[in-house]
Formats: sequence, structure tokens, C-alpha cells
Amino acid sequence: MGQGFKSKHKVAIGALLLASLAAPLAARGADLTFQPPREYRLRFYNTHTNERMEIVYRRGDTYLPAALDRLDHFLRDSLTGDIHHFDPRLFDLLYDLTSTLQNVDGEIDVICGYRTPKTNEYLRTRSAHSGVAVHSLHMQAEAIDIRLPGIPTSQLRDAALRLHRGGVGYYSASNFVHVDVGRVRQW
Ligand SMILES: [Zn+2]
Repeated sequence: MGQGFKSKHKVAIGALLLASLAAPLAARGADLTFQPPREYRLRFYNTHTNERMEIVYRRGDTYLPAALDRLDHFLRDSLTGDIHHFDPRLFDLLYDLTSTLQNVDGEIDVICGYRTPKTNEYLRTRSAHSGVAVHSLHMQAEAIDIRLPGIPTSQLRDAALRLHRGGVGYYSASNFVHVDVGRVRQW
């Protein structure tokens, strides 16, 4: 038994040695080729519901359906509670916007997300919301009104215009910026 055990033992040690030599090489090779997919994270504060949310909505090129569901709920019509599926390109726009302002970890204050046609009409007929359009992209869940605490709204507007992706509306009196993923335009 002694002899057989020894030789088996030697083989095992040899394999271990080989493995320990090979492992660092493999790891080094992996470091060069493997890049973990980028995480797209956003932080929100909803000024109507007082809710907060920090969420990874996309990993690499993949949007995360459960995260998008949560965002749809978070950005619901604040008057009626109705939910609409948001165009995820809007979240990419917000991500790039906060990135260009070096504010990726900062909170985005949400003034308005989705609006039902009924809510849109209600707001439109009140003088305090003279900026509400008849065919607002808020009704297609393709628009959001925001401000970034600590960043002047004019700076936020300029950064949104530089992205050249969709509409940018500047509401200096109410201190927020409208961004959407519709046609490139400005008001
Ligand atoms: Zn808007």
C-alpha cells in the first residue's frame, strides 16, 4: 500500500504545483480581457411623493426589466397614480447628463414624470403651469422635469443642450429643466 500511496501522492502534488503555476497566468490573462459590464446607476428624489430611489437600471447593454418596472412606478402620475412604461433612453439621457456634470452620485429631484392626458389638461388650464404643452411628451412617458441640488438650473440646461438628444425646456421661474427623448428642440 505504502508504495502505491506515495506515487499517487506525488502525482497529486505535481498536479497541485502545475495548478498553482497556471493559476496566476490564467488570472493575469483574465484581467486583460475581462471587463465587468458597466453599471448604470441613478438616484432620485420625487418632490411630489417624497420618495427616494437609488437604482441600477442597466448593466452593460442590457436594461434590467425589474428596475424599469420600479422606475415606471416611481415616476407615476402624481395626481392619479397611473403608471406608464418609460422609454429607457430617457434614463440614459439622465445618466449622461449627471456624468457630464460630474454629478453621478448626486440626487435628481423629479418635478414631474408621467402625466395622464387628464392631468396634463388639468395642469395646462391653470395659469401657474403655463409651460404645459397640449401634446406633452410627459403623456408618452418620454419626458421628465428635473433639477439637480447644488447645480444651477441654467448649467443643467446648458449641459442638456450640449447632449443634443431630444427637447430641452428651461423654466427659470419654477427652477427646473424639462428633458425628453423626442425631436431635438429648445424652449
Ligand atoms: Zn416637462
